[in-house]
Amino acid sequence: MKSVSRRQFIAGLAASSIVAPRLYATETSWDVIIIGAGLSGLRTAMELENQGLRVKVLEARNRIGGRLYTHDDLPGGPEAGGNVIGALYARVQDTVRRLGLTLEPMRAREPVEYARDGLAARVAFHLDGKYVTVDEWPRYPGNRFPAKLQSTLPWSFALAALAPLNPLKELDDWLKPEARAFDKPLDAVLRQAGMSEAAIRLGVGVNQGYGQMPDRVSALHHLQLLTWATHITRREGLFHIAGGNQRLPETMAAALKEPVQLATPVSAVHDRGDSVVVETASGNWQAKRVLITLPATALRRIRLTPEPPPAQRQGIAELTYSVTTQVLFRIDDAYWERDGLPPTLWTDSRIGQLLAFPYGPDGATQSAALWLTGADALEADKLAPAALVERSMAVLRRIRPKAAKALKPIKVFSWQNERYTGGTWASWAPGQVGAFANQIGLPHGRIHFCGEHTARLDRGMEGAMESADRVIIEILEQML
Ligand SMILES: Cc1cc2nc3c(=O)[nH]c(=O)nc-3n(C[C@H](O)[C@H](O)[C@H](O)COP(=O)(O)OP(=O)(O)OC[C@H]3O[C@@H](n4cnc5c(N)ncnc54)[C@H](O)[C@@H]3O)c2cc1C
Repeated sequence: MKSVSRRQFIAGLAASSIVAPRLYATETSWDVIIIGAGLSGLRTAMELENQGLRVKVLEARNRIGGRLYTHDDLPGGPEAGGNVIGALYARVQDTVRRLGLTLEPMRAREPVEYARDGLAARVAFHLDGKYVTVDEWPRYPGNRFPAKLQSTLPWSFALAALAPLNPLKELDDWLKPEARAFDKPLDAVLRQAGMSEAAIRLGVGVNQGYGQMPDRVSALHHLQLLTWATHITRREGLFHIAGGNQRLPETMAAALKEPVQLATPVSAVHDRGDSVVVETASGNWQAKRVLITLPATALRRIRLTPEPPPAQRQGIAELTYSVTTQVLFRIDDAYWERDGLPPTLWTDSRIGQLLAFPYGPDGATQSAALWLTGADALEADKLAPAALVERSMAVLRRIRPKAAKALKPIKVFSWQNERYTGGTWASWAPGQVGAFANQIGLPHGRIHFCGEHTARLDRGMEGAMESADRVIIEILEQML
């Protein structure tokens, strides 16, 4: 008799226990069940429906959009998540237009989004307890960058320092074995390139622009970002969707024949060989194939049987995500007119960056956020929201008293504390690209995977849609 391991036995038990009291669609009437109503899941659902398949989307939250989430309760509706649509986001822009939404030029909010000549007017730069102007920066005594990077501002340092080292030419070169020499900690690679500890601390140690500490992120991740940024900025322009970026996934969901099933968190997915069963608290669902679009941080809470192969399993269990915590404010008074400094503030005083959102009528700045990343975000998450607000206000009272008076706290939002997201975007840790980047999105029997972390060429919203296009073909090849 064939011996059965303990794990197989437990998996078998789990599979048999799925004969739960309520089974939606007992015969395999769904062609595909898609788990997650973010951009990647909805793009796949729209296209598979177009191809005549019966598709059902299950979404854990009581809202559509995943990491596209507009703070509609703040003036101007700033984005909690996906914010900037690049000029070369072909899939996103095409979908926006086809669905009758409007793209409008993005009004910059982050220091990195402003053109250099707009910076002095828009960004106050606070370092070592004092304000420095953008013009003073190249000769400022606290500027520890090497001579050739002396006029680089801290938020642009990582990519500027890596540019001369970048061996990647094509967008998917980061996945090739030759690139692995750079799959090492970002700070170590910068050190090897001759950057001093002080330069590394200032350039990637505070307000980590990409949301992750420099010893926890692979330099290869940043090199891919650099290659992609070089590609994506070949055409100028940053865009936003009128009324908020979340309107895109909402409109995509509304265009589906079969409505999205909200408030339906999936807890397990079982491939039975001839069909797949999806477990939720309110009953089980069955389909010929299942697509999982969740970030690895949410996917690791779901039981998959049979288990995926080792590299894919490791990817799901370990893939690292960047972290971002936001303290959101309504602006009751134009503090920048009172203190003469620009509205947005970049500071090394551990409260993150104060981003002022010029999203009101005619560009009026009516809301703002303290945007904390990396170690600062994790520190902030240890505090209760009221204590975080109080600590932030105390720092603002010291370094920018007029702003402290004008800002009315509305709420605190942490992406890593969101159960169904668990971070902002995949931020490959040292060694992770080599260990599982090529495996994490592979189909596993009748279970398919997509989502931003499985994109090979693009990033962000466009990456989510790119991953959908790959999986659409993968599924159609099996089903038609
Ligand atoms: C702070 C922040 C800033 C960003 N800025 C930009 C930017 O400027 N430009 C850009 O292009 N991109 C940006 N992005 C990235 C962009 O928003 C994402 O890449 C994209 O929205 C991801 O889409 P997705 O479909 O891969 O995943 P998601 O949107 O995460 O969709 C996954 C869905 O699965 C659901 N789910 C999770 N667990 C379960 C479960 N157990 N059962 C059922 N459903 C479940 C989730 O609720 C979610 O709706 C940003 C993201 C963040 C967070």
